[in-house]
Amino acid sequence: MNKLTIPLADKSSSEIFEQCVRGYRDTKKVRKLLRYKKDVESSAKNYLKYIPCDIEHYPQTPVSSDDKEMLVNVYKDKFSKASFSKGRAYYDKILAGASGKCAICSIGAASTLDHYLPKAEYPTLCVFPANLVPECQSCNKNKGDFIQIENEKMLLHPYFDDLSDVIWLDGKLVFSSVIGIEYYNSYTSDPVMASRISLTIEKYKLFPLFAIQANSDISNNISMWRKQLQNTGTKQLRIYFSACRLSREEKDLNSWSSALYRALERQCDEVIDWLNNNP
Ligand SMILES: [Zn+2]
Repeated sequence: MNKLTIPLADKSSSEIFEQCVRGYRDTKKVRKLLRYKKDVESSAKNYLKYIPCDIEHYPQTPVSSDDKEMLVNVYKDKFSKASFSKGRAYYDKILAGASGKCAICSIGAASTLDHYLPKAEYPTLCVFPANLVPECQSCNKNKGDFIQIENEKMLLHPYFDDLSDVIWLDGKLVFSSVIGIEYYNSYTSDPVMASRISLTIEKYKLFPLFAIQANSDISNNISMWRKQLQNTGTKQLRIYFSACRLSREEKDLNSWSSALYRALERQCDEVIDWLNNNP
């Protein structure tokens, strides 16, 4: 997961909210919704102050249950719906934020926006860009309406958590009739962050997803590694794994493939033994 820039940061959240609300023809509804304009603005300001590291102190805006539904519907009717082009233009811009990929797994295409704080619980944030994360269908479904109010249980937030300079994803190769990999969370610096990383991995079911990608990569490349070992020797294979690792790490230190090539380089002797014994 790479850190992303907060989308539409130059736009005021209440301005986006008002543009969406004014898309309704029912003037009574518009008036009623616009009464929340100030709350929308203050919720956004507090969000930038407290999320995701101090959610325990985030002051929630009180909203009646009837109004909750009305506010949530602003997102459905006037933000995500293609027929309301003004809101949908914002939606599409946020969706493209991770180069069109899912901001969580970096594997699937971003096809939905996830409300980091669920809209049903935090309706005044329903069209606030910093609360909307581009995700693939599978990640969005896995997360669902997950919400915890303890700091160590907050999922990683791609707009606020910057882990791009530290390795938190690693892997150990396992050898049987094939070469496989077991991924693990290698982050130990701070217990709160370590817990948040583990919860994110678990909630989004990232390890099985990463293992599928890694197994496919191994299976596609194994005959080439064998040929390389036969033709150029053990030293060259080790150099090759190292070069692959470096080029992947340049893009994302914690991608499934960076962790895979770290493991291949680290366990190169075992890989060579396995290749020699499994011709
Ligand atoms: Zn995903």
